[in-house]
Amino acid sequence: MPGCRVLVPFGRRRMTGYVVSLRRSPPGKVRLKQIVSLIDDEPLISGVLLDLARWMSRYYVHSLGEVLRAILPAGVKGAGRLSGEDETAGIFPDEIEYPELNAEQRTACDAVGKVLSSGGTASFLLHGVTGSGKTEVYLRCIDQALKLGRSALVLIPEIALIPQTTSRFRRRFGDGVAVIHSRLTGAQRSSIWKGVSRGDIRVVIGARSSVFVPLRDLGIIVIDEEQDGSFKQEEKPHYNAKAVAEFRARNEGAVLLFGSATPSLETYVAAQKGERGYLRLSSRPVIGTMPGVDIIDMRERRGTFSVELLDALESCLENREQAIVLLNRRGHASFIQCRKCGLIERCPNCAISLTYHSRENRLLCHYCGFEEEPPGACPSCGSYGLVRKGLGTQRVEMELRNLLPGARVLRMDLDTTAGKRGHLDILERFSGGEADILLGTQMVAKGHHYPLVTLVGVISADTGLNFPDFRAAERSFQLLSQAAGRTGRGERGGRVIVQTYIPGHYLFDHLPKHDYDGFAAAELKLRKELGYPPFGRLVLLTVSSTSSGDACTGAEQVAAAVVKTCRSKRDCRVLGPAPAMIEKLRGRYRMQILIRGDLDDAERKKLVSAARAAVPGRSRAEVRWDVDPLNIS
Ligand code: ADP
Ligand code: ZN
Ligand code: ZN
Repeated sequence: MPGCRVLVPFGRRRMTGYVVSLRRSPPGKVRLKQIVSLIDDEPLISGVLLDLARWMSRYYVHSLGEVLRAILPAGVKGAGRLSGEDETAGIFPDEIEYPELNAEQRTACDAVGKVLSSGGTASFLLHGVTGSGKTEVYLRCIDQALKLGRSALVLIPEIALIPQTTSRFRRRFGDGVAVIHSRLTGAQRSSIWKGVSRGDIRVVIGARSSVFVPLRDLGIIVIDEEQDGSFKQEEKPHYNAKAVAEFRARNEGAVLLFGSATPSLETYVAAQKGERGYLRLSSRPVIGTMPGVDIIDMRERRGTFSVELLDALESCLENREQAIVLLNRRGHASFIQCRKCGLIERCPNCAISLTYHSRENRLLCHYCGFEEEPPGACPSCGSYGLVRKGLGTQRVEMELRNLLPGARVLRMDLDTTAGKRGHLDILERFSGGEADILLGTQMVAKGHHYPLVTLVGVISADTGLNFPDFRAAERSFQLLSQAAGRTGRGERGGRVIVQTYIPGHYLFDHLPKHDYDGFAAAELKLRKELGYPPFGRLVLLTVSSTSSGDACTGAEQVAAAVVKTCRSKRDCRVLGPAPAMIEKLRGRYRMQILIRGDLDDAERKKLVSAARAAVPGRSRAEVRWDVDPLNIS
């Protein structure tokens, strides 16, 4: 039966295979072998999941086997049959207290409810600032789906999978909720998979890979913080859980509900064009204030901390309140910025910032390969340029301790969050009042609601804004808004201080007013001019090898092959090859080629085949491809 696993002979070994379809005669001339044995009596993969796998295989140009391996959780794939005790049974709390919805929440619930009760499919964007009551809307819609006998899937960023979020769902829906997080064992995952397949578990909350959970009678898929990058799988097989969810919702007749305070421009534009319903929550029902945002011009100042930020931190300490200090640091890109006027060199072709390579003393665009010598003096103001690298959290921590000797500082970065519970422990200690200041990278912005946090300081908005990626401004706006959302929710109000060397950047026209629409309009204008998403689509090819020579040669060959296949296609542009932003990763040199244009399934397949054929198997270079890449690094 399709969806069952079988043991098949493969050379001299035996391997597990998946039955994907049955046919009476072999396709063309092939020699058939006997199946050794059946592993499952009942299909492990339902028909709709097989549909999904086929779609993923076509869209992302991966083999069906590879996709199926990604779909099935580790505990389920393992040898043998499904086993394990039932973890949960469908117990629902009978008395639920709902707050009275405000008008906008009601409109949102009604719109979703109408589709749910009609049994149709539709997608919506629920756009509202942190604290505007989005989760309340999710809960209400899920409740309605359950009442109609349907099930619900909630996807949230991995880092948000903390008890604070999930307990709210548990309180509403009791033990019928399963939470899938990275700390589960294979057996626990397999038990959830089983409970879901049987229909005992009807609400699942999880991160990216939970999009494959085989819920029956799926009524609604909620994707909270839909702008978050963690919905994209960056390893092979590359896929985006948002696109997968979209396919599922359409194929299974469910509602898809994206929620965000700062939606990705792709989702936002789709809503503006009417391809998704647009639902807006414009205020906070409990405490209606948004924090004030001050932009501090750091040009011609010394030191990491401005007087304004230090003063604010001090008064925070005096009032026994808490502060979050964000060090916006991404990757290892270094760039050249004029310390006097803030100018940054950008690529004349791609508009992304040029990366400084100190070894060769060159500025380089890692999209198209444009190269130049760093200017001796700033082309705009004539002052001397300065190489800037992201500051380390450890150094900033030391500085902070020196400047504010009385403050208790907790540092949160990749070093301090090692281990599966690392970031949870730190967040719990901070919310427990063990520290006055939480200092860290992006992670701190995604934490939760801390009533005592009245100040968010951003050391430098520039490392994010100058990141060599066309989404740099969008990501920065999202991150800074999210950071701002950490404060101002308590009665004490909140304040945000952002330090920058480029206060003239258009982002700062809109950030202080919490004006997402204004920012989006400005950003979309630029995207349109340059043909970047959401106005054009991308495929990223990466050619890597342990030898830099082989990587370069391989990339040249791939680029030539790709140019040839794309020649007939108007509006298709091939950028590169250029060294990837992370030029060397795990011992391999990396080159990349970016293809811009609207390719269909068949064209993408042709493109990938051509690229793979250009570096033959015996070559020491390897090609990877990423459809709709989110990180071009
Ligand atoms: P979001 O998910 O957008 O951050 P929440 O749904 O968590 O917002 O709502 C923020 C706070 O406001 C929560 O404490 C929630 O219980 C409360 N809340 C939400 N909607 C209402 C409402 N209509 N009336 C009163 N309180 C509400
Ligand atoms: Zn200058
Ligand atoms: Zn370029």
